[in-house]
Amino acid sequence: MKMARASKDDLDRMIAFMQFIEEFMDYGTHTPQNDEYEEESIELTDEGFAERLRELWGRRFGHHGVDIAWSRVVFGCGVLIDNVCDPNADTLEWKPELAAKIEGWRCFHCDQVFGDRDAALVHFGGSEIQTPACKIDAVAFRDLERLAASYVNEDTELHKEVAALRSRLADATRRAEEDGYARGLADAKKHPGELGLCVAEPEQVKGGAS
Ligand SMILES: [Zn+2]
Repeated sequence: MKMARASKDDLDRMIAFMQFIEEFMDYGTHTPQNDEYEEESIELTDEGFAERLRELWGRRFGHHGVDIAWSRVVFGCGVLIDNVCDPNADTLEWKPELAAKIEGWRCFHCDQVFGDRDAALVHFGGSEIQTPACKIDAVAFRDLERLAASYVNEDTELHKEVAALRSRLADATRRAEEDGYARGLADAKKHPGELGLCVAEPEQVKGGAS
């Protein structure tokens, strides 16, 4: 079942009723705020107070008075507080999950509110480990710029290490090739027959095919 919403009129009646009680309890008088009553400020007896209370309550005159209004105002307020307000706040604040939808995203640090998701993303970053824009200090930002530039120029410690390794590898490869070639050549000179090579004899060269 849905609860009827209190009207502005309901609120006004409730306020007038409670102010009247407060005034009598504090001073024993009745000083109408509203000119339409055309009443003077008067000292009230208990009977006069009760009589005025009945008028404000409303039933006696058949119109809707505080008798109908108060439950809409008081219970409605309770329903709103339970459903809409932050239970951990002493002042009227949106529940956090509602605040995010209604207000957008509020930064804890600078209190800025972002209604647009993309704008919030720019301020907060996309992950929890990122620093909000308002908390980034200039020194850290310049350091990041320098780091980004060194990556662009391939000038980080990592790049230098990779370049040194490449150079050492190229040297080692070249040396291994040279050593292998020299060893092969030496073997070929020692055992030419095993490798299908033959050394030309001086006579064979001289005599030709005979
Ligand atoms: Zn911020």
